Amino acid sequence: MDDIWDLVVVGGGPAGSAAALRARQLRPDARVLLLDKADFPRDKACGDGIAAHGHDELALLGLPDLIADHRPTRRLSIVSPGGARVDATVARPNHVVPRAVFDARLVEAARERGVEVRRHRVRALAVRHGHVVLDGTVTARAVVGADGANSVVRRLIGMPASPGRHTAIAVRGYADVPLDDDVQRIVMQGEGWPAYAWSFPVGDGSANVGFGMLLPRLRATGLPGRRVLHDRLAELLPHLPARDLRAHHLPLSPGRPGAGVGRVMLAGDAAGLINPLTGEGIYYALLSGRLAGEAATQAPDDPLPRYRGELGRALGRHLRTTDALALAARSPRFIDAAIGVAARRREVFDLLVEVGLGAGTVPPSLLFAVARRWLGEAVRGA
Ligand SMILES: Cc1cc2nc3c(=O)[nH]c(=O)nc-3n(C[C@H](O)[C@H](O)[C@H](O)COP(=O)(O)OP(=O)(O)OC[C@H]3O[C@@H](n4cnc5c(N)ncnc54)[C@H](O)[C@@H]3O)c2cc1C
Repeated sequence: MDDIWDLVVVGGGPAGSAAALRARQLRPDARVLLLDKADFPRDKACGDGIAAHGHDELALLGLPDLIADHRPTRRLSIVSPGGARVDATVARPNHVVPRAVFDARLVEAARERGVEVRRHRVRALAVRHGHVVLDGTVTARAVVGADGANSVVRRLIGMPASPGRHTAIAVRGYADVPLDDDVQRIVMQGEGWPAYAWSFPVGDGSANVGFGMLLPRLRATGLPGRRVLHDRLAELLPHLPARDLRAHHLPLSPGRPGAGVGRVMLAGDAAGLINPLTGEGIYYALLSGRLAGEAATQAPDDPLPRYRGELGRALGRHLRTTDALALAARSPRFIDAAIGVAARRREVFDLLVEVGLGAGTVPPSLLFAVARRWLGEAVRGA
């Protein structure tokens, strides 16, 4: 059996790397082990969009220049299910960095900071003498389960998988675009709503393109899932034929489990932290991973209460906001109204970006403005 590790992180995506990086940042002598079933670089089905808020997290982890060689993107264009449209410039730039590059850089930064990185697929977890033992051989004072949407750690600690009604599925590929295309486009679709396609130019003559929808809506079509996803993508972005198509689940935050059990904390997709309105999850992965790494080093005897508390302080109000908005957004007319208001009022656009990509909340006055427009359109429609 190995020695006892202060922290073992399962999964080397943004959540796991952030946990490992933060632990060593706060306690340079901490013994931290990062396990991933894959070797890096590895691909991950994703839109590759890194919000400004994710960039802030990189700075907090001591990596402010990790993606400085990638082009910042400010222009955003959204078309709602009913055809309302907003074209605007975001207050702070986003980035598009293929995950094969982004995740490998994070893992490498963790290695350079003294984290031991091993290729290992975790299959079993037990608690012995107050420690967590993985696969009978790796013993830890604390574990961060950051093993993604189909988390094994989450299942091993007795927490159910993300419920189907709060799970989306999306396919992504790459398409050729003009080198100077720098508009992030989102095209929503009324059929099978909520459903939308995106095109996020990388800045090298390619764009990440994709299409996602809720799992029950996909099943309701009665058709093979892959065919539906590929056909809808081609239908919504006919001028951007995609290659390297790859799909993955998105556990949306209204279906999130608790923060963990005992000495095991869940972070990122394993903790069901994906924004139900936009599918953004990298920022929450970095944030929750950082907080889990902090708890493991700052409260080593009992990290979970600290982690739960800090996560609640950072995201609690925001998550309650997006839970409520996800309910309202079941009506495509609500989204039409929100985009319609955002197209006319700059501050509303900025706020929607904060709610969709960051930790923003919605003031009652804005909810009122959107609800009024929504009701007005419903009455006109009737
Ligand atoms: C198609 C699609 C598009 C998306 N677009 C965006 C976007 O544009 N912007 C955005 O912010 N978010 C987007 N998301 C969400 C985003 O991809 C996730 O929220 C993010 O990857 C979560 O990071 P993570 O570290 O929690 O998990 P992951 O990135 O999934 O990393 C989990 C890691 O755990 C490893 N692992 C899994 N099981 C085990 C095991 N048993 N043992 C050891 N290792 C294991 C895996 O190999 C993997 O490296 C998208 C998701 C999808 C599916």
